[in-house]
Amino acid sequence: MIADLVLSNSKAYFKEDIVDCSIAFGNGRILKIGKEANMPKADSRIDLKNQLVLPGLIDAHVHLRDEGKSRKEDFYSGTSAAAAGGFATVVDMPNNDPVTMSSGTLRNRMDIAERKVLVNVGFRCEFPRNLKDVELIVQQGALGFKLFMAEQVGGLDLDDDDGIIEAFKTVAGFGASVAVHAEDKETLKKAEDVLKKEKRNDVAAFLKAHSERVELRAVERVLNLVRRSGVQLHFCHVSTEEGLNAIVEARESGARVSCEVTPHNLLLSSDDLKRIGMLCVCMPPVRDKRHIEALWKGVKNGSIDFVASDHAPHLLKEKEAESVWDVKVGIPGLETTLPLLLTEVNRGRLELGELVRLLAEKPAEILQLRRKGCLTEGYDADLTVVDLHRKFKIDSSKFLSKAKYSPFDGREVTGKPVKTFVNGRLVFDEGEVVVKPGTGRVLRREIAV
Ligand SMILES: [Zn+2]
Repeated sequence: MIADLVLSNSKAYFKEDIVDCSIAFGNGRILKIGKEANMPKADSRIDLKNQLVLPGLIDAHVHLRDEGKSRKEDFYSGTSAAAAGGFATVVDMPNNDPVTMSSGTLRNRMDIAERKVLVNVGFRCEFPRNLKDVELIVQQGALGFKLFMAEQVGGLDLDDDDGIIEAFKTVAGFGASVAVHAEDKETLKKAEDVLKKEKRNDVAAFLKAHSERVELRAVERVLNLVRRSGVQLHFCHVSTEEGLNAIVEARESGARVSCEVTPHNLLLSSDDLKRIGMLCVCMPPVRDKRHIEALWKGVKNGSIDFVASDHAPHLLKEKEAESVWDVKVGIPGLETTLPLLLTEVNRGRLELGELVRLLAEKPAEILQLRRKGCLTEGYDADLTVVDLHRKFKIDSSKFLSKAKYSPFDGREVTGKPVKTFVNGRLVFDEGEVVVKPGTGRVLRREIAV
């Protein structure tokens, strides 16, 4: 047996421990983890110089744009940012131009991605207008569906509960899951209209419009639809104590629900939003201390399943409008998520094992990505190597993403991704992309028959 590559002198997060070992890759899989003396012969070797090796991290919520929105980001720039941020796998969301909501738009997106991506990419699809198309989308390999509830994006009528239940049942019939952006359209629209009439157009008005109630209403409504359809449902970027409590309660009474939190909802407050301004505007917004504490509690006790960046890149000038209602909503997160969380590990607020659970094990489990999420022989050779003690300042001008802004700009962090391996190949090495476009793979959901 000859391995393609052996990584020596690594400190790997292996079975809830950090072990000194070497790791051999072959055919894109992990062949062996063990002592250097037990490694097979290899075509090439890399000395990791005792740096920390984690399973290839997974960001289950990103917007890679491309196609009609490629001025903001494309598959190459977005997956370069992923590799630079230590992510070996990302999941793309459907609010694209055209919206990913048919087997045709999905196939086209997969074809374009195949040629350009540096890391593995899976896709979520919005609901098609005709539910008969759900089967075609599933066959095309969507990792799951997405329902955006703050405004009309996909083919489902957001005001029609029965229609949504039917759609959920159809998706459940194929064993697929639904991810939801839970903000209630009607409550949001009403609040926005009032504020606009009052000529309020600053970030405080945005915060007021996207109130706690907007999230809770949507969460409660969706939970009711989940109970009546039996679908497996994932809540994106939970941001409030009340929303989280409702999800936890539903899970305790048997609903198949999971949820994620973003790093900005954990680490930025509504005061930060007022200080930073438009660059920090995102949906749902960052909130006050009470919610931040509840979210951290959820991260620590496991009621929040994972962390996802909600990487939502825009042009800088799209973030610079006079009125908050004209500002494009979203912030890039692929290149800040891991350093920010490693900083929390260094501070002692997060255990390394918790970080691995939040960024690898749980997203792999919930997305049903077999052979991903932990370092195990036979699993895919996706690895994230970090320098746990390297200090630096977040500098968005250095991002590989096209979106060169961040509400975290200037923040001192400790812990940096230094190498990212994808499918057995070194993709990103000390600040540079070292492979050609197309090294990553398009992930298609394996359909259980
Ligand atoms: Zn999003």
